[in-house]
Amino acid sequence: MFNSLFRKNKKQKTKKSKIIIANWKMNPQSLLEAKLLVKTIAMTKSRHKKIILPPFIWLRELIKITRKKIIFGAQNCFWEEKGPYTGEISATMIKNSGCHYVLLGHSERKKYFNEDYDIVNMKMKVALKSGLKIILCIGEKEKNSEISHQEIKEQIEKAFNKITKENVKKIIIAYEPSWAISSGNPNDPENTPDTPQNAATNAIFIKKLLVKKYGNSILNDIKVLYGGSLNSKNAEEFLKEETIDGLLIGGASLIPEEITKILSYY
Ligand code: PEP
Repeated sequence: MFNSLFRKNKKQKTKKSKIIIANWKMNPQSLLEAKLLVKTIAMTKSRHKKIILPPFIWLRELIKITRKKIIFGAQNCFWEEKGPYTGEISATMIKNSGCHYVLLGHSERKKYFNEDYDIVNMKMKVALKSGLKIILCIGEKEKNSEISHQEIKEQIEKAFNKITKENVKKIIIAYEPSWAISSGNPNDPENTPDTPQNAATNAIFIKKLLVKKYGNSILNDIKVLYGGSLNSKNAEEFLKEETIDGLLIGGASLIPEEITKILSYY
């Protein structure tokens, strides 16, 4: 049943506009550099939807200067709504600063801050309550792991615990296997991106899990992107995959020549 559902969907569109998300991580180091980069991205012609996730501290200024040409998101939020949580940022603050999205479940948050999907689920609930949309990272830890589908399934089950069907369309999923995240340099020969075919298989797997949980009617609302060691040489092949709805780009999104090329593809 699922396969016919996906085949039918595939026939509907041959070339579609996708979502391209730039995750700047802890970069750049000055507002001036951030402004230059955001202007370059804003001016680049593209058929794709552009979302940028700068560090919190640059958000307000960047939102002001790009005026609706770009959609912005934050890279994290806290799981409580407000209160005595030194150093944390609430989902409502992010929403009130002019952002539309928050990134949750990123592998670097899992690696350096021990975040798990129970925590991610708490953050998702508070983010949705504040009116933010979510970019949710899902992906296995080890390459060629025999249990990768099991791991993905468990992550999805925990992340979507008590998330209503109405909210599913507010969540973009990024399939980002932890092992594929780059060193920061998109052209580092040691980087190990996934193959477009494997990423597409996993995107379908994730869509099937959500269709099973929420029903066939949500299929068109589910967006699954790929992220991990993308650069201007490999990105186009991922964009060509029908079941991959876009890209989440780290290192390459900080290099003007790389990100502008990627935005112009397909
Ligand atoms: C990321 O941070 O989400 C990411 C995919 O990083 P990179 O493109 O550098 O692997």
